[in-house]
Amino acid sequence: MARASATVHAPLGSLTQRGARAGVSCQACGSERVTSISMHLTDGSPVSFTSCHRCEHRSWQEQAGSVLPVAHVLDKARKIR
Ligand SMILES: [Zn+2]
Repeated sequence: MARASATVHAPLGSLTQRGARAGVSCQACGSERVTSISMHLTDGSPVSFTSCHRCEHRSWQEQAGSVLPVAHVLDKARKIR
């Protein structure tokens, strides 16, 4: 009787994953073996997350290109309103 409400929300809908995008390199070791992901924080700020496969350095950047301190990102992501 119960209608299967198969409404699966895709919270990551705005997430664009780009593996090994040309032009992106690790800020720590310079390797181009990085994963760069663009997403929006919960407060709507567009950011890029870059993870290096070689040295595991990770960094967050605003779309404008400036580096975001991780604590700043976590603080934004933690905002519950
Ligand atoms: Zn690296």
